[in-house]
Amino acid sequence: MINVTRSSMPSYEEYCEEIKDLWESRWLTNNGAKHRQLQTELEQYLAVPHVTLYTNGHLALEHMLDAMRFPEGSEIITTPFTFVSTTHSIVRNGLVPVFCDVNDTDYTMDVTKIEALITEKTVAIMPVHVYGNLCDVEAIDVIAKKHGLKVFYDAAHAFGVKKNGISAANFGDASMFSFHATKVFNTIEGGALCYADDKMVSLLDTLKNFGIDSPETVAFVGGNAKMNEFQAAMGICNLRHIDGEIAKRKAAVEQYRKRLSGVSGIRLCPEQAGVESNYAYFPVVFDGYRHTRDDIFAMLKEQDIIARKYFYPLTNDITCYAAMETAGADKTPVAKHLAARVLTLPLYADLTVEDVNRICDVILQ
Ligand SMILES: *Cc1c(COP(=O)(O)O)cnc(C)c1O
Repeated sequence: MINVTRSSMPSYEEYCEEIKDLWESRWLTNNGAKHRQLQTELEQYLAVPHVTLYTNGHLALEHMLDAMRFPEGSEIITTPFTFVSTTHSIVRNGLVPVFCDVNDTDYTMDVTKIEALITEKTVAIMPVHVYGNLCDVEAIDVIAKKHGLKVFYDAAHAFGVKKNGISAANFGDASMFSFHATKVFNTIEGGALCYADDKMVSLLDTLKNFGIDSPETVAFVGGNAKMNEFQAAMGICNLRHIDGEIAKRKAAVEQYRKRLSGVSGIRLCPEQAGVESNYAYFPVVFDGYRHTRDDIFAMLKEQDIIARKYFYPLTNDITCYAAMETAGADKTPVAKHLAARVLTLPLYADLTVEDVNRICDVILQ
């Protein structure tokens, strides 16, 4: 069986060695030594002034928006071609997601369609570096500055990605990375916000610890989203091996490209100019191929190969948003077209060239 993903892990011995200290300190969470170490190491690895760690990426997104204190009902321009978390984080903060379509090349937000969606209620843009493809960050920056909007990137897929040598953690006002077990870099569950504004550090740290700002005062209604020491220890171990894991993913992607490039009716994402990829996902769009996406999905499954219809359904097309005025996949026709045809193929560091060949044989035959 080949699953769609398989978590990167250090050896059992390496993780045990890393967590040994915890039996001496008996300090399991609340900004412990492992948490502080991982935070510093990530600030260096991601080359960003500040990293705030979270128990998962979704809560990092929610807390980023919560920290802004936007008026209830404010609008955030985002895309529906994403994991539900992006849209949920907006709605759970009492804000309104306004869906911008994606472009047909790298499936990130179509920057030519943003300005038409801006109203007097718009406060921010929340684009997604989907599959690790970077958004047109320069164009988004120009639009945001012109209209006085904040920019928050859902960078859950973009850990370690660089554009012209600049880490993806440095774009916009803040970026969220997910360290979920299925992501390129994992802390079992986990996530982070990356940003430059010094003033945000204590605000975010307080917000993720119930709003407690001193032993006897609670400054505001916070939540609980702290990363614990076992998660941080997993992160410290995985970070030691991350470059090797990304290199192994790259080899698998190169084999996929070799087998599937130039096949009529199969579309692959072009490699982005100047971008150092993390090879997070391998999306394939079946558009005019002799079999549909759903047929390919089923044929792979018959051979015990699990691909994923990622992202289907679109977040503006899911049941819980059916009644929302801004929902409706017809408003984002490119995303709708893609969602019906895209399949992400299995991809993880230990996927072998033979595995890739087996998967491609099913698709091509
Ligand atoms: C994984 C993911 C998230 C949520 O991250 P968790 O760490 O699982 O909470 C958000 N957005 C996107 C695009 C994701 O893929």
